Amino acid sequence: MESLTGRHFLQIPGPTNVPDRVLSALAHPTIDHRSQEFQRLSHEVMEGVKRVAQASDPVFIFPSSGTGAWEAALVNTLSSGDRVVMFETGHFATLWYKMARRWNIQVEFVPGDWRHGASITALEEILHRDTNRQIRAVMVVHNETSTGVCSSIGAIRQVMNAAGHPALLMVDTISSLGSIDYRHDEWEVDVTIGCSQKGLMLPPGIGFNIVSQKAWQASSSAHLPKSYWDWQAMRTTEQTGFFPYTPPTNLFYGLRESTRMLLEEGLPRVFARHARLAEATRRAVVGWGLELLCANAGEYSQSLTAVIMPGGHDSTALCQLAAEKFNLSLGQGLGKLQGRVFRIGHLGDLNELMLLGALGGLELAMRRANIPIRPTGVHDAIDYLAKNV
Ligand SMILES: *Cc1c(COP(=O)(O)O)cnc(C)c1O
Repeated sequence: MESLTGRHFLQIPGPTNVPDRVLSALAHPTIDHRSQEFQRLSHEVMEGVKRVAQASDPVFIFPSSGTGAWEAALVNTLSSGDRVVMFETGHFATLWYKMARRWNIQVEFVPGDWRHGASITALEEILHRDTNRQIRAVMVVHNETSTGVCSSIGAIRQVMNAAGHPALLMVDTISSLGSIDYRHDEWEVDVTIGCSQKGLMLPPGIGFNIVSQKAWQASSSAHLPKSYWDWQAMRTTEQTGFFPYTPPTNLFYGLRESTRMLLEEGLPRVFARHARLAEATRRAVVGWGLELLCANAGEYSQSLTAVIMPGGHDSTALCQLAAEKFNLSLGQGLGKLQGRVFRIGHLGDLNELMLLGALGGLELAMRRANIPIRPTGVHDAIDYLAKNV
């Protein structure tokens, strides 16, 4: 391993770069989690998360990864044998599906090719067929981090309402929240699932559920075993600000700061910045003569771009070369895309120059790896940015 100078370029789609303001906030001396100062902090953090999710429902925060927040949503709303609908949008949707199966949830797993979002027409048909209204939940990953495809939650809600179907709508917003427009209230989402280390620009360690009145009611008759993830205790926490166990106090300082930063910039501008950097990235990919994994322009992710590797080349080897030679971390292909796809994260604390640094590093790495590309990718990204800043 060569010694690497300068800053590390963390361009995976989570964890993302932690801004200096948040790093400073994290360095706050640890406080008593039973103190009034913590109580205030706790309420401010919950308020900040709700505003970023455009939500007025209560938020239940867990010291956990995103996977924990998935489990919390599941065990609090469902019972063994319950029927739900999920969509095979990619690796993360598949992991969530496997978790549900382990809890003996009966999942109608709508098949997908990992290049498209959740199928609205398939959902329409499934809900129409469900004349006895047995389906308890529709569970969808908003932004599929393994493929760079974003599903339309608004369209899913419309189909559910048009069918008059009472199922809960549970949405994984882990790699969209704080980067892509997400509207918990407007889309009548029952459980929003998020965590700290992607668009919220924090280190890993916080997971959360934002819970509608309907989901809260469902939790009183959900029989899956739970203890740590039980929403019951969290309801009290949401009111008092105090946790039933030790919360990650320093991450709370960080989360207060990062939600403040997003709200100071203003959500519409945050989303526009992500859309602009995403489009510049796609211009670079097309400029290199490479193919985007996302097959539908209406579903392009604004937080990451997955790129298909030209035949005969291995994306994992390319990612290793970029890391070792140029101090640049790119996302590898996950699950069945391993070796065939690499991913460029462009979410969180990012600007034009950081993105161009990453794209320049990627072009360098591809040249070193003798991958057949046109040398115009970065040029095309600059061309787009120059006209759209
Ligand atoms: C990262 C991610 C997860 C998993 O989160 P962890 O914190 O690694 O447990 C789940 N869903 C999506 C869409 C993700 O991007």
